[in-house]
Amino acid sequence: MNPFGLLTPKVWVSSVADITPDYLRTHGIRGLILDLDETLVTAISHTAADRVRDWITDLRSEFQLYIVSNNNSGQRVKRVADDLDLPCLHQALKPRRKGFRRALAAMNLQPNEVAIVGDQLFTDVLGGNRLGAHPILVTPLSPETRGWRKAMRLVEGMFIHQYEHLKNLNAAEAVWTSQPESRP
Ligand SMILES: [Mg+2]
Repeated sequence: MNPFGLLTPKVWVSSVADITPDYLRTHGIRGLILDLDETLVTAISHTAADRVRDWITDLRSEFQLYIVSNNNSGQRVKRVADDLDLPCLHQALKPRRKGFRRALAAMNLQPNEVAIVGDQLFTDVLGGNRLGAHPILVTPLSPETRGWRKAMRLVEGMFIHQYEHLKNLNAAEAVWTSQPESRP
């Protein structure tokens, strides 16, 4: 029995690029709903890394992809999404299910056919579990420096370290607990 229930992802990866087509096929996934900030791009960038771009290119022939972001700036979300040639919606209010459901409708998929991919437990993972989808937690791309968000990362880190059954597939360290002096 898992005491953390709805806050538990199915799997934890260092980068979206670690999510393989084989893994998705094995779990009956046909579409991915992707978080934007700190999942596809850093909070201060509009451009995804080459590894992330290549991963999107590899997946898109077989899986539907949709960006669902809590970011309030439609301009920022659209700019990144256009650059990646992906559909998007912003101001989604995750963990509420409304935004996810809009994306599901657009993809014509059921919740159990979709992976919810993101870096935050209290929005992406909680929302994904509430939806009945397959939540995949991704280590944030960069250490958090902003006030309450930084505090939230520390709380998330405390939860994540309790998930003994989860293996971070690629990295020995997680940045949820990064110290300020380790910031770039
Ligand atoms: Mg995020």
